[in-house]
Amino acid sequence: MSEPLHYVIIGTGAAGTEAALHLRQRDADCRITMVTAGRLLFIRRYELPKVFDGVEDWRELLVYPPEFYDEHGITVRRNSWVTNVDPERRVLGMRHKEEVSYDRLLVASGGGGYIPAGLSEYRHLLQRFATFGDAIRMRQSLPEGGRVIMLGADMTGLDLARKLTAAGFRLTVVATEQLFWPHEVSPRKRTRFVKALVAMGIEVIQGRAVAGIEATNSGGPARRVVMDKGDLRGDVVIPFFGLMPTLDFMVGAGVDIERGLLVNPQLATTDKNIWAAGDVCQIWSPEENHYRFYYGWKNVKMMGRIAALNMTGDNEAVDTVKEEDLFINANGEIDSPFWEYD
Ligand SMILES: Cc1cc2nc3c(=O)[nH]c(=O)nc-3n(C[C@H](O)[C@H](O)[C@H](O)COP(=O)(O)OP(=O)(O)OC[C@H]3O[C@@H](n4cnc5c(N)ncnc54)[C@H](O)[C@@H]3O)c2cc1C
Repeated sequence: MSEPLHYVIIGTGAAGTEAALHLRQRDADCRITMVTAGRLLFIRRYELPKVFDGVEDWRELLVYPPEFYDEHGITVRRNSWVTNVDPERRVLGMRHKEEVSYDRLLVASGGGGYIPAGLSEYRHLLQRFATFGDAIRMRQSLPEGGRVIMLGADMTGLDLARKLTAAGFRLTVVATEQLFWPHEVSPRKRTRFVKALVAMGIEVIQGRAVAGIEATNSGGPARRVVMDKGDLRGDVVIPFFGLMPTLDFMVGAGVDIERGLLVNPQLATTDKNIWAAGDVCQIWSPEENHYRFYYGWKNVKMMGRIAALNMTGDNEAVDTVKEEDLFINANGEIDSPFWEYD
């Protein structure tokens, strides 16, 4: 009898977890190993603002309980960093020097917040909001009713902004060209959408540039954002300038990379044993004749499912129809298909 296939998935987020589930449904006997640099299992990241409503334990945000993985025969290796992939030998190199071999590999390593070059020297003064730990740190830095200064304000940032406003915090958005990213908004529509943000209680500063960020210890808010004209004071400064795919460990693996890992509509990379799904990949769009990203929880899950189907012999393509655009809902608030989670 032949050995069961070993599927290895880098990443335990929405893409990786959805893929693992579908791999198990398709092949009852295969081995499935998920590897994550993180310490936690798969959580609903869009629910991270619940820490401001008193959530203290990350388990409250779990998508699946810990026993779920055992029940589905899925091995999850947490706190395990992949540093390189050798497609000839079909092994992952880990930071702790172990090698993990695979028959078929799915890269679902997501992306991190992009910081423009001009702000990188102020990284240590910026608050992140990508993990449960980040969310707890932010709650600790924010006094009741405190002020958050958000730079950029892509759709993930605006999701947080509206939830913070509802929780009683004050929001100042310093809008850049990443405002509403990944939506592409015409100047006319932008004016309307900015008005709607203001009506939602969010202060929006436009047409001004950040010259620097300083820590202050003279009492009052802990950060000063030095602008080209006048300064802003806030308790935390948080950047949201869109995503940068996490794929440094794939450099040298011989697969094609542009900004993301390049895949065809079937999510196959240029290596016959490697697929990619989620925020890490850029998919060829025959309709648009270029590679593009498919952001958003729903799209990412869809990619995880399609990758699993194709890794087990199907030939399904990602639906590359352009997503609906940003809109103003019946309450006069901006809304987006990006904020639909299921
Ligand atoms: C605060 C917040 C709010 C959001 N709000 C929305 C929203 O309103 N709507 C929406 O659609 N989306 C939202 N998102 C984005 C959404 O969460 C992402 O699109 C989605 O999580 C991406 O899933 P993914 O599986 O591609 O990657 P991720 O969930 O980012 O998972 C990446 C995985 O790869 C692992 N990894 C990376 N590098 C390595 C390595 N070298 N070795 C081992 N493991 C590695 C990570 O540990 C992680 O497990 C939000 C995100 C955040 C943080």
